[in-house]
Amino acid sequence: MIEISSLCVYCGSRIPTDPAHKEAARNLGHQLAENGIRLIYGGGHVGLMGIIADATLDAKGQVIGIIPGHLHDIEVSHEKLTELHVVDSMHIRKEKMFQMSDAFVVLPGGLGTLDETFEMITWRQLRLHDKPIILVNYKKYWDPLLKLFDHMIEAGFVEKEALGFFKVVERMEDIMPALLKAPETEIKADISKF
Ligand code: AMP
Repeated sequence: MIEISSLCVYCGSRIPTDPAHKEAARNLGHQLAENGIRLIYGGGHVGLMGIIADATLDAKGQVIGIIPGHLHDIEVSHEKLTELHVVDSMHIRKEKMFQMSDAFVVLPGGLGTLDETFEMITWRQLRLHDKPIILVNYKKYWDPLLKLFDHMIEAGFVEKEALGFFKVVERMEDIMPALLKAPETEIKADISKF
């Protein structure tokens, strides 16, 4: 089975209307610290991103943030991280987050979260990597996205196997078991192809 020591979490940079999502981000931060798993994330101190980073640190976990210089002020770089990497561009940020992580978890979020998630899913489609991707459909937030997948498959634009590129869990307590059950990665990711 795969060993997860660093987990990349993609999630919203805004505070959502439903406070349950904030609680969910906090919960995942605590789970990471308890399981000795480092959080790799976008480095901001805003929205769910800030909440999960704070929760992980509060529970004595390790957090590595990767933020491009131009977002330093907009996303308010977190000052208390274990490590903060300030990089030159969004692309370098995403590449570094990929390289440093053994797996990816997607919490509810907005356009940036979708961009990051789809990059990981499409790279899997291209067989550039096979790291596990867990989509947390907390409170059914991603239901419309999952419907879109069905629609695209039905229309013939997406292969059925695409549903196997990521695993969907509904509850926060299902994340760790899904990660621990994920098969060992076989593909040695070649970053020059990204
Ligand atoms: P959001 O889901 O829009 O709140 O954004 C979550 C995170 O995704 C933020 O840290 C954004 O900077 C980041 N992000 C990554 N790629 C992009 C992109 N292409 N456009 C916008 N945000 C992005």
